[in-house]
Amino acid sequence: MKCPQCGDRTAVDLDTHSSGFTSDESPVKECGACGLVWRVVMESGEAKVDIIKPADKKK
Ligand SMILES: [Zn+2]
Repeated sequence: MKCPQCGDRTAVDLDTHSSGFTSDESPVKECGACGLVWRVVMESGEAKVDIIKPADKKK
C-alpha cells in the first residue's frame, strides 16, 4: 500500500495485536520514508485513511 502522505511504497505493517486494536480494522502501517503511521478504516462502505501519527518531519 502506498503512503497517503508521500506516496512511498516501503510501508510496513506494525504488530497491533498487543495494542488493543480490534480485528475489524486494517493493520496499522508505518511509512519507511516519512514515518507516517496510518490505517485504513471502512466508513459507510468507503475506505478512509486514518492518520495515527503524523509524518516525521525531522530530516
Ligand atoms: Zn510516507
